[in-house]
Amino acid sequence: MVDRQRARFFDLRLDDLRERGAIVHMLSRSGASYGYHGYEAGHAERRVAEEALQHFKAVSERLRTDLEKGLWQRLVIGCHSSNWPEFEPHLHPYVKQRLIGRFSADVASVTDEEVRKHADTLLREWIEERGHSKAEEAISFAKANGRGVTGLRRVLRALETGEVQSLFLAENYSARAVECKHCGHLDAHIVSACVACGRKTRELNDVCDAIIPIAIRSDIELFCVKQHSELDRAGNIAALLRFRADQNRAGNIAAAS
Ligand SMILES: [Zn+2]
Repeated sequence: MVDRQRARFFDLRLDDLRERGAIVHMLSRSGASYGYHGYEAGHAERRVAEEALQHFKAVSERLRTDLEKGLWQRLVIGCHSSNWPEFEPHLHPYVKQRLIGRFSADVASVTDEEVRKHADTLLREWIEERGHSKAEEAISFAKANGRGVTGLRRVLRALETGEVQSLFLAENYSARAVECKHCGHLDAHIVSACVACGRKTRELNDVCDAIIPIAIRSDIELFCVKQHSELDRAGNIAALLRFRADQNRAGNIAAAS
Protein backbone atom coordinates (compact mmCIF):
# COMPACT_ATOMS: atom_id res chain seq x y z
CA MET A 1 0.00 0.00 0.00
CA VAL A 2 1.52 3.30 -1.00
CA ASP A 3 0.74 7.01 -1.25
CA ARG A 4 2.92 10.13 -1.38
CA GLN A 5 4.04 9.90 2.24
CA ARG A 6 3.34 6.40 3.46
CA ALA A 7 3.88 2.81 2.49
CA ARG A 8 2.76 -0.35 4.27
CA PHE A 9 4.05 -3.80 3.36
CA PHE A 10 1.96 -6.93 3.71
CA ASP A 11 2.70 -10.60 3.15
CA LEU A 12 -0.08 -12.79 1.82
CA ARG A 13 0.52 -16.53 1.98
CA LEU A 14 -2.48 -18.67 1.15
CA ASP A 15 -5.16 -16.83 3.14
CA ASP A 16 -2.86 -15.53 5.82
CA LEU A 17 -2.13 -11.79 5.72
CA ARG A 18 0.62 -10.21 7.80
CA GLU A 19 1.87 -6.67 7.93
CA ARG A 20 5.63 -6.46 7.61
CA GLY A 21 6.74 -2.94 8.28
CA ALA A 22 6.08 0.51 6.92
CA ILE A 23 7.81 3.57 5.56
CA VAL A 24 6.48 6.93 6.67
CA HIS A 25 7.98 9.97 5.10
CA MET A 26 7.49 12.99 7.36
CA LEU A 27 7.36 16.28 5.52
CA SER A 28 10.29 18.41 6.52
CA ARG A 29 9.45 21.67 8.24
CA SER A 30 10.36 23.84 5.29
CA GLY A 31 8.25 21.68 2.99
CA ALA A 32 5.22 21.94 5.24
CA SER A 33 5.34 25.68 5.85
CA TYR A 34 3.37 27.12 2.99
CA GLY A 35 4.26 30.73 2.39
CA TYR A 36 1.61 33.26 1.46
CA HIS A 37 3.68 34.85 -1.26
CA GLY A 38 3.35 33.27 -4.67
CA TYR A 39 7.01 32.45 -4.81
CA GLU A 40 7.03 30.68 -1.46
CA ALA A 41 3.86 28.75 -2.22
CA GLY A 42 5.38 27.51 -5.48
CA HIS A 43 8.59 26.71 -3.70
CA ALA A 44 6.74 24.73 -1.03
CA GLU A 45 4.82 22.78 -3.67
CA ARG A 46 8.02 21.84 -5.45
CA ARG A 47 9.48 20.84 -2.12
CA VAL A 48 6.51 18.54 -1.41
CA ALA A 49 6.80 17.03 -4.90
CA GLU A 50 10.52 16.46 -4.36
CA GLU A 51 9.86 14.74 -1.04
CA ALA A 52 7.18 12.52 -2.61
CA LEU A 53 9.69 11.57 -5.30
CA GLN A 54 12.29 10.61 -2.67
CA HIS A 55 9.62 8.64 -0.81
CA PHE A 56 8.58 6.70 -3.93
CA LYS A 57 12.24 5.93 -4.65
CA ALA A 58 12.71 4.64 -1.10
CA VAL A 59 9.62 2.40 -1.39
CA SER A 60 10.80 1.01 -4.75
CA GLU A 61 14.22 0.34 -3.30
CA ARG A 62 12.72 -1.53 -0.37
CA LEU A 63 10.69 -3.69 -2.79
CA ARG A 64 13.80 -4.46 -4.78
CA THR A 65 15.97 -5.41 -1.80
CA ASP A 66 13.17 -7.51 -0.27
CA LEU A 67 12.79 -9.34 -3.57
CA GLU A 68 16.53 -10.00 -3.68
CA LYS A 69 16.33 -11.42 -0.16
CA GLY A 70 13.57 -13.76 -1.37
CA LEU A 71 10.95 -12.23 0.93
CA TRP A 72 8.28 -12.12 -1.75
CA GLN A 73 7.50 -13.57 -5.16
CA ARG A 74 4.57 -11.69 -6.65
CA LEU A 75 3.45 -8.15 -6.05
CA VAL A 76 0.06 -6.48 -5.71
CA ILE A 77 0.04 -2.72 -5.20
CA GLY A 78 -2.68 -0.76 -3.44
CA CYS A 79 -2.44 2.86 -4.51
CA HIS A 80 -4.78 5.69 -5.53
CA SER A 81 -5.00 6.12 -9.29
CA SER A 82 -3.75 9.70 -8.89
CA ASN A 83 -0.50 8.48 -7.24
CA TRP A 84 0.12 5.56 -9.57
CA PRO A 85 1.64 7.53 -12.51
CA GLU A 86 4.08 9.10 -10.03
CA PHE A 87 5.06 5.83 -8.39
CA GLU A 88 5.13 3.39 -11.31
CA PRO A 89 8.20 4.83 -13.13
CA HIS A 90 10.30 4.19 -10.02
CA LEU A 91 9.65 0.46 -9.92
CA HIS A 92 12.69 -1.58 -10.91
CA PRO A 93 12.12 -3.58 -14.10
CA TYR A 94 12.36 -6.95 -12.38
CA VAL A 95 10.05 -5.82 -9.59
CA LYS A 96 7.59 -4.70 -12.25
CA GLN A 97 7.80 -8.08 -13.97
CA ARG A 98 6.38 -9.58 -10.80
CA LEU A 99 3.54 -7.12 -10.46
CA ILE A 100 0.26 -8.96 -10.94
CA GLY A 101 -2.21 -6.17 -10.31
CA ARG A 102 -3.19 -2.95 -8.61
CA PHE A 103 -6.19 -1.76 -6.65
CA SER A 104 -7.23 1.61 -5.36
CA ALA A 105 -7.46 2.18 -1.60
CA ASP A 106 -6.37 4.60 1.09
CA VAL A 107 -3.14 3.63 2.85
CA ALA A 108 -4.11 5.06 6.24
CA SER A 109 -7.67 3.77 6.50
CA VAL A 110 -7.60 0.46 4.61
CA THR A 111 -8.34 -2.59 6.77
CA ASP A 112 -6.41 -5.87 6.71
CA GLU A 113 -9.55 -7.58 5.45
CA GLU A 114 -9.79 -5.20 2.47
CA VAL A 115 -6.12 -5.70 1.62
CA ARG A 116 -6.52 -9.48 1.81
CA LYS A 117 -9.65 -9.46 -0.34
CA HIS A 118 -8.24 -7.22 -3.06
CA ALA A 119 -4.93 -9.08 -3.22
CA ASP A 120 -6.63 -12.46 -3.20
CA THR A 121 -9.00 -11.53 -6.06
CA LEU A 122 -6.14 -10.18 -8.18
CA LEU A 123 -4.00 -13.23 -7.44
CA ARG A 124 -6.78 -15.64 -8.44
CA GLU A 125 -7.44 -13.78 -11.66
CA TRP A 126 -3.75 -13.76 -12.44
CA ILE A 127 -3.36 -17.50 -11.79
CA GLU A 128 -6.38 -18.28 -13.94
CA GLU A 129 -5.13 -16.14 -16.79
CA ARG A 130 -1.62 -17.53 -16.51
CA GLY A 131 -2.91 -21.12 -16.48
CA HIS A 132 -4.97 -20.41 -19.56
CA SER A 133 -2.19 -18.84 -21.60
CA LYS A 134 0.49 -21.31 -20.46
CA ALA A 135 -1.77 -24.25 -21.35
CA GLU A 136 -2.21 -22.75 -24.78
CA GLU A 137 1.56 -22.46 -25.07
CA ALA A 138 2.02 -26.12 -24.03
CA ILE A 139 -0.52 -27.27 -26.61
CA SER A 140 1.02 -25.29 -29.45
CA PHE A 141 4.52 -26.50 -28.47
CA ALA A 142 3.19 -30.05 -28.48
CA LYS A 143 1.81 -29.58 -31.99
CA ALA A 144 5.20 -28.30 -33.13
CA ASN A 145 6.90 -31.24 -31.41
CA GLY A 146 8.63 -28.85 -29.05
CA ARG A 147 8.58 -28.23 -25.29
CA GLY A 148 5.05 -29.41 -24.72
CA VAL A 149 3.05 -32.63 -24.50
CA THR A 150 -0.67 -33.42 -24.41
CA GLY A 151 -2.68 -36.45 -23.41
CA LEU A 152 -2.25 -38.66 -20.36
CA ARG A 153 0.16 -41.17 -21.88
CA ARG A 154 2.71 -38.56 -22.96
CA VAL A 155 2.28 -36.47 -19.81
CA LEU A 156 2.98 -39.53 -17.62
CA ARG A 157 6.10 -40.31 -19.62
CA ALA A 158 7.31 -36.70 -19.31
CA LEU A 159 6.71 -36.82 -15.54
CA GLU A 160 8.86 -39.94 -15.28
CA THR A 161 11.72 -38.41 -17.24
CA GLY A 162 11.60 -35.24 -15.13
CA GLU A 163 10.87 -33.02 -18.11
CA VAL A 164 7.73 -31.35 -16.76
CA GLN A 165 7.86 -27.71 -15.73
CA SER A 166 4.12 -26.92 -15.59
CA LEU A 167 1.16 -29.27 -15.57
CA PHE A 168 -2.35 -28.38 -16.78
CA LEU A 169 -5.43 -30.31 -15.78
CA ALA A 170 -8.88 -29.41 -17.02
CA GLU A 171 -11.34 -28.72 -14.21
CA ASN A 172 -12.69 -32.01 -12.84
CA TYR A 173 -10.16 -34.01 -14.83
CA SER A 174 -10.09 -37.66 -13.90
CA ALA A 175 -8.77 -40.77 -15.61
CA ARG A 176 -8.07 -44.39 -14.80
CA ALA A 177 -4.50 -45.64 -14.80
CA VAL A 178 -2.29 -48.25 -13.17
CA GLU A 179 0.57 -47.76 -10.77
CA CYS A 180 3.41 -50.13 -10.03
CA LYS A 181 3.95 -50.28 -6.26
CA HIS A 182 7.42 -51.62 -6.82
CA CYS A 183 9.04 -49.08 -9.17
CA GLY A 184 6.40 -46.32 -9.16
CA HIS A 185 5.77 -46.49 -12.90
CA LEU A 186 2.42 -45.01 -13.94
CA ASP A 187 0.67 -46.28 -17.04
CA ALA A 188 -2.37 -44.98 -18.89
CA HIS A 189 -2.91 -48.49 -20.25
CA ILE A 190 -4.69 -50.74 -17.81
CA VAL A 191 -2.14 -53.53 -17.73
CA SER A 192 -1.72 -56.03 -14.91
CA ALA A 193 2.08 -56.27 -15.19
CA CYS A 194 4.37 -53.25 -15.01
CA VAL A 195 6.06 -52.57 -18.37
CA ALA A 196 9.13 -51.25 -16.56
CA CYS A 197 9.79 -54.00 -14.00
CA GLY A 198 7.25 -56.75 -14.66
CA ARG A 199 5.70 -56.69 -11.18
CA LYS A 200 1.97 -56.61 -10.55
CA THR A 201 0.29 -53.21 -10.94
CA ARG A 202 -2.43 -51.59 -8.90
CA GLU A 203 -5.37 -49.91 -10.58
CA LEU A 204 -6.08 -46.25 -9.83
CA ASN A 205 -9.60 -44.90 -10.22
CA ASP A 206 -8.16 -41.44 -10.62
CA VAL A 207 -4.64 -40.86 -11.87
CA CYS A 208 -4.69 -37.39 -10.24
CA ASP A 209 -4.25 -39.09 -6.85
CA ALA A 210 -0.81 -40.12 -8.09
CA ILE A 211 0.26 -37.19 -10.24
CA ILE A 212 -0.69 -34.32 -7.94
CA PRO A 213 1.69 -35.52 -5.17
CA ILE A 214 4.42 -35.99 -7.80
CA ALA A 215 3.87 -32.42 -9.00
CA ILE A 216 4.12 -31.08 -5.45
CA ARG A 217 7.25 -33.12 -4.66
CA SER A 218 8.98 -32.18 -7.89
CA ASP A 219 8.15 -28.47 -7.64
CA ILE A 220 6.05 -28.55 -10.80
CA GLU A 221 3.73 -25.61 -11.29
CA LEU A 222 0.23 -27.10 -11.30
CA PHE A 223 -2.81 -25.46 -12.90
CA CYS A 224 -6.44 -26.39 -12.84
CA VAL A 225 -7.72 -24.83 -16.07
CA LYS A 226 -11.38 -23.94 -16.55
CA GLN A 227 -13.18 -23.87 -19.88
CA HIS A 228 -10.29 -24.27 -22.25
CA SER A 229 -11.55 -25.73 -25.53
CA GLU A 230 -8.07 -26.52 -26.87
CA LEU A 231 -7.12 -28.36 -23.69
CA ASP A 232 -10.43 -30.17 -23.94
CA ARG A 233 -9.56 -31.33 -27.46
CA ALA A 234 -6.03 -32.24 -26.37
CA GLY A 235 -7.30 -34.80 -23.84
CA ASN A 236 -7.82 -32.46 -20.87
CA ILE A 237 -4.24 -32.81 -19.70
CA ALA A 238 -1.06 -31.15 -20.94
CA ALA A 239 2.40 -30.22 -19.75
CA LEU A 240 4.97 -27.59 -20.51
CA LEU A 241 8.46 -29.09 -20.51
CA ARG A 242 11.76 -27.80 -19.19
CA PHE A 243 13.51 -29.74 -21.93
CA ARG A 244 12.76 -32.66 -24.20
CA ALA A 245 14.85 -35.68 -23.36
CA ASP A 246 14.20 -37.40 -26.70
CA GLN A 247 15.17 -34.33 -28.68
CA ASN A 248 18.38 -33.18 -27.05
CA ARG A 249 20.44 -35.64 -29.03
CA ALA A 250 18.35 -35.38 -32.19
CA GLY A 251 18.48 -31.59 -31.90
CA ASN A 252 22.26 -31.58 -31.57
CA ILE A 253 22.63 -33.85 -34.56
CA ALA A 254 20.30 -31.66 -36.59
CA ALA A 255 22.21 -28.55 -35.51
CA ALA A 256 25.55 -30.14 -36.41
CA SER A 257 24.49 -31.32 -39.83
ZN1 LIG B 1 7.34 -51.45 -12.02
